[in-house]
Order: sequence, then C-alpha cells, then structure tokens
Amino acid sequence: MLITFYGVRGSIAAPGPVTAKYGGNTSCVHIRTRAGVNLIFDAGTGIRKLGMQMSGVTEPIFLLLSHGHSDHIQGFPYFDPIYQPDRVINICQGVEGNAAALTNLVEQMDGSNFPVRSQDLPSVLNIVDDPGGCAETQSLSIKRIDLNHPGGGHAYRLEEDGVSVGYITDNELTPPGKPATSYAEWVDFCHGLDLLIHDAQYDEHDMPHKHGWGHSLISQVRQLAVDAQVRNLVMFHHDPMRTDSMLDEIAIENARYFKSKNARIGAWIAAEGLTIELKKRADPKVSTIDLFTQN
Ligand SMILES: [Zn+2]
Ligand SMILES: [Zn+2]
Repeated sequence: MLITFYGVRGSIAAPGPVTAKYGGNTSCVHIRTRAGVNLIFDAGTGIRKLGMQMSGVTEPIFLLLSHGHSDHIQGFPYFDPIYQPDRVINICQGVEGNAAALTNLVEQMDGSNFPVRSQDLPSVLNIVDDPGGCAETQSLSIKRIDLNHPGGGHAYRLEEDGVSVGYITDNELTPPGKPATSYAEWVDFCHGLDLLIHDAQYDEHDMPHKHGWGHSLISQVRQLAVDAQVRNLVMFHHDPMRTDSMLDEIAIENARYFKSKNARIGAWIAAEGLTIELKKRADPKVSTIDLFTQN
C-alpha cells in the first residue's frame, strides 16, 4: 500500500517560506492499494497536484471525504480528471451525518462560486453512499466511524493483505459534551494500526479558547498512539500558524515522549511529497513501513 501526502495543512492554505518544508496545501492524501485501487482522502488544495499526475489515464478514482468543510473540498474544481471525458470518479460520501460533504463538494461548482458548473463536467461523477461497497475488493476492507467534529464526518480504517492504515482528521478526541465517538472507542478503532494518520492541529496554547472546535491536541494524539498500540503515527492537519521550525520541535518531542513510554512507535510529521510504503513483514520486530519523498 502506497500512501502519499499532497496536502497536510488544516483550516486554510498557508503557503510561504516558513511552511515550505512541510507544505501549505490543505488536506489530500492518496492511497494506492496493492491491488491498484486509487483512493483519495479529501479534496483540499493538495488535490490539484495529484490531479495533474492522474490525468490522461482511465483507471477509476475513489474519493472518500472526511466531511464537507471548505479545507477538505476546495481543491475539487481544480482536479484535472473531472474535465476528462467519461473518466469515472466515485465519490463516497457516507450517509449519516455526512451528506453535507457531498452537497458542499458539488455545489461549489454552481457557476457563481466557480465558472464551470458540476452538471457540465464531461467526467462521470458516481455518487456512492457506502465506502465499503464503493472501493472494497476481496483483499481490501474499509471501516468508518463518526468524527467528533462540528457538523459531523467520518474517519476511515483500511486493511489490505495484513496491513492497516487509519485516516482520522478533524477529530477532537475529548470534545465538550457527549462525543459521537468516545475515547475508548477511538482506542478500539485504531488498535494495532500499522499507520495512524491523525489530526494534531492544536497545542496547549490553543486551549481553552478552541475547545469544541473539533481538533485534537498534539499531546492527546501521542497518548492515543500509545493506548491503541499503533506501530507508526503521522501527525496531520497542521495549524496554519504552525511553522516548519515549530513542527521540527514537535517531531523531537514525539521521539522523546515515545522513548519515555518505552513505546516502539515510529512518528512523523505529515509533509507534502512524503510517501510511505506499507508492507507486511514476516518478522514482527521489523517496521512495516518504508519512507521516501518525492517532488
Ligand atoms: Zn479541516
Ligand atoms: Zn473541519
């Protein structure tokens, strides 16, 4: 399974010299399964570059949305394959609590917000309610669970041939009030993941002001990785104010924290162009992942 990050920023794109290392584009992650299925998680501004690389071929695309906030859909009108005649793009929205994601994705192309209307696109936008029925194969399973986020949304867990990855963004692990998914349920959902990709937008300075805004503290995400016994963690959906040097500091603190817990967890900060290859290995002591970067 090949996982490539095209957009790692939360809330709003944040380009510029102080974010050049990790990237300023909003959420978009591409996963190519071993069986060759193309899954795209979210359509933030990062999807523009991915679309340039995916145009000109005909293989189908599966777009899975976490939810319909602007930073997760705003790149869609700039996704080249939607202008490709008869290109099939399966959009897996999820039904309960996530219908707004699809509405927002398509309705931003209404001739007013964007010059091209969705109904005039030459591609085939195939709307599918169930992400399992959408992209699952004999070897690939997709589970989802409700996010703790204003307006709702979904997190996903993929398993293929014995390797697993979780895509969980815009999620507040301990929100005020009754959560859609409790912390214990998150630990269960993430248990044993080879790779956990999780929203880590806030630090203690953001609280209590941003409690209830639907994002997790970096410290809570570290704790979840330990409690769920994941093998690798990628912190994702960086705050637009988080500079490269601040993210470098967080990476150092991650290593220090996991060492103090005697936890053998590989930890990375999501960066545009980072590609992770997840492989099943016979020796459980050997990491399940290889990392490399691309331009
Ligand atoms: Zn977001
Ligand atoms: Zn959001």
